[in-house]
Amino acid sequence: MTANIIDGKAFALGLRERIATQVATFREATGRVPGLAVVLVGEDPASAVYVRNKHKATVAAGMASFEHKLSAHTSQADLLALVDQLNADPAVDGILVQLPLPGHIDERAVITRIDPDKDVDGFHPVNAGRLATGLEGFVPCTPLGCLMLLKDQLGDLAGLDAVVIGRSNIVGKPMAQLLVKESCTVTVAHSKTRDLSSVVKRADIVVAAVGRPEMVKGEWIKPGACVIDVGINREPAQPGGSNGRLVGDVDFAGALSVAGAITPVPGGVGPMTIAVLLRNTMISAHRREDVSYDKDAW
Ligand code: NDP
Repeated sequence: MTANIIDGKAFALGLRERIATQVATFREATGRVPGLAVVLVGEDPASAVYVRNKHKATVAAGMASFEHKLSAHTSQADLLALVDQLNADPAVDGILVQLPLPGHIDERAVITRIDPDKDVDGFHPVNAGRLATGLEGFVPCTPLGCLMLLKDQLGDLAGLDAVVIGRSNIVGKPMAQLLVKESCTVTVAHSKTRDLSSVVKRADIVVAAVGRPEMVKGEWIKPGACVIDVGINREPAQPGGSNGRLVGDVDFAGALSVAGAITPVPGGVGPMTIAVLLRNTMISAHRREDVSYDKDAW
């Protein structure tokens, strides 16, 4: 068997095109475009790339992008004041504070200061609670993107055995909640899990969100399983000076001959995150203007 390689890049592009069409409809209905504010504190190079990509995608979708680049020495009080200002700004539908923040700033204090109804990253405890209790809210972009790929691949997920490896607040836990909502039987594995290979072996769906290069081996995978690899790991630089290649948390070559479907790294889950961020911003704009929308169409 050779697994179907799930093309997250193409899926995300389609989603972004559908969103761009809806932006035009929203503008006709309300006289304004949805707006996303992104706050970057400091000069972390990876964060700077993410923020640049988010800005480009927002503009390409026809939305307003408000970028706030602050020095690494910005005080927590000043950052909270900016969040307050964005919470009150009627042109801003979504607020994203790029993580990680410099060590002197309490990330939790910043995340909980964002208006939950503008929290398009879905990290606010109110949105985590809404997800856990089945209320409408914002779901973190990466796990929601994974779910979209899974449903596109498998259709109805009810009754399937799913294993989520990783229990972070931004990927593992919300992913598990989403799969429970889809009526999967869900196991959440983590660094203290005993005999991870046996746990993975019984899963129809494997979501790996660990941050350890190629940790999940091909022989752990149940034949025909659908494998979603969230991990983004950069291998060490080559002797010639070129950047090391990007690899996921799954041994892609090993899993390819066993799995039914698998996301590649890069080009799988990664592109979905920004597309879902735009989707969440659209949903916020529609809710705030009380314009009806069909979220299943995006
Ligand atoms: P965290 O470091 O917050 O969480 C990692 C999780 O993996 C923890 O729950 C940890 O367990 C678990 N873990 C660590 N070692 C093992 C092990 N040996 N066996 C089983 N579980 C283990 O990471 P994130 O959730 O933030 O990110 C995970 C990966 O996904 C990273 O590579 C990150 O770069 C990538 N990522 C990709 C995104 C995208 O857009 N594609 C977005 C976000 C993240 P414990 O809780 O016990 O410590």
